[in-house]
Amino acid sequence: MSREDYEVVIGLEVHAELSTKTKIFCSCPTEFGGEPNTHCCPICMAMPGTLPVLNEKVVEYAVRAGLATGCEIEQNSKNDRKNYFYPDLPKAYQISQFDRPLCKKGSVEIENEKGEKVTIGITRIHIEEDAGKLNHDEFGGGSLVDLNRAGVPLIEIVSEPDMRSSVEAENYLRKLKSILEYIEVSDCKMQEGSLRADVNVSVRKKGETKLGTRTEMKNMNSFRSIVRGIEYEIDRQIDVIEDGGKVEQETLRWDDVSGKTFSMRDKEDAQDYRYFPDPDLVAIRLSDDYIENIRKTLPELPESRRERYIKDYNLSQREANLLTASKYLSNLFENTLAICNNPKATCNWILSDISRILNEKEMEPNEIPFDENHLAELITLIEKGTISSAIAKKVLEELFENVNMPSKIIEQKGWVQISDEGAIKEVVMQVLSENAQSVADFKAGKDRALGFLVGQAMKQTKGKANPQMLNKMFVEEMNKM
Ligand code: ADP
Ligand code: MG
Ligand code: ZN
Repeated sequence: MSREDYEVVIGLEVHAELSTKTKIFCSCPTEFGGEPNTHCCPICMAMPGTLPVLNEKVVEYAVRAGLATGCEIEQNSKNDRKNYFYPDLPKAYQISQFDRPLCKKGSVEIENEKGEKVTIGITRIHIEEDAGKLNHDEFGGGSLVDLNRAGVPLIEIVSEPDMRSSVEAENYLRKLKSILEYIEVSDCKMQEGSLRADVNVSVRKKGETKLGTRTEMKNMNSFRSIVRGIEYEIDRQIDVIEDGGKVEQETLRWDDVSGKTFSMRDKEDAQDYRYFPDPDLVAIRLSDDYIENIRKTLPELPESRRERYIKDYNLSQREANLLTASKYLSNLFENTLAICNNPKATCNWILSDISRILNEKEMEPNEIPFDENHLAELITLIEKGTISSAIAKKVLEELFENVNMPSKIIEQKGWVQISDEGAIKEVVMQVLSENAQSVADFKAGKDRALGFLVGQAMKQTKGKANPQMLNKMFVEEMNKM
């Protein structure tokens, strides 16, 4: 049997650090980094005799995430202790939620590789505290613990095993990331670990109704490694089955350098967490009003913006998907539009040249150094014929280096388009006299010759001549010949 005879099943457990100012059970800052052990107090360091107090914002943010993903909100919730020993966990238990998570039974819509809509179920969203970090001592003396991250609030979003390919897993995570960014509950910086996923993968023969045995890759924090890890696991598991073996339930570590997974622990050393309600914390009771008030403050979500872009601005599915995948790009689009009222041009600039430059510079959309005023003016300058689109591209490059209004940039650089008829005519006549063959070609009906002549004129004027005027005048002059 081959890979086509198997069905892939994937479920994700996504951890997102919440962007509250303070930690979940004390008033220490949640800010990333800092000198080791400077964002800590006796509570987050688990000193004997200290007591946690739940940060109300954490509940609010988790409820926001639940409402944005169509979850039911648990009005009678609580915190539980999850007991395990690890040196980065000073209490030897993590305060989490067991049987009454704040949110359950939600879903998000994604697209699969064929562009069809698929619904991915969300089993639950619960709140919990992050652990500290172990740093290996640079002098070789072992490991040192940094508790700055201990007590940073997290939500864990657990999906149903509803994904059927690495593409679906990637699209699901991208969708979650964009929702969390839109509702402003997490900065979702994957490189800083604010968004990370445990990826569960299994395979089964097509037609089989029982799920296969899964493996779980822990703490994946880039889209690329998630896709690579899933593909590797699919191949590995199918090989095991094809060789007559059985997939073992294991926790794995994905190694980006070797492109392989390694076993961290198997089912035999699976932990018993001995969950029980935390006696130091009061129950979490949420009134209908409390929930409805949060619902009212939810912004428009990516899915609804997407539909609106297609309907109101005539954008394609693909364009609307790409724009709304990032809150920053989507906001830039809408704010620019409000000034220059040209949806097509605004969309094109954002998705082609701006996205290309972001890629080249390995920058995120939120790092774009200019705003809607700059982009709208750039588009207006092209519309008015003050600059050609070739010059506009140069202005854009400049905007990434030195932000200034585009009108100022073209003035300083002397990039104003030549739209003076006399000047254009001079160039046209000269190019015609130097390219007799192209003139003959044009007369013989070869339209491509016109493009060549315009190109020559552009070259001579360093891209500054007005292309519409060039086109028109070349045709007029050649018709006279
Ligand atoms: P745990 O917390 O021990 O990892 P859960 O039963 O809560 O276990 O499952 C965690 C994740 O694994 C969920 O996202 C779920 O959808 C996914 N999952 C469960 N069974 C499978 C399976 N057979 N194949 C793929 N994913 C699975
Ligand atoms: Mg798990
Ligand atoms: Zn603290």
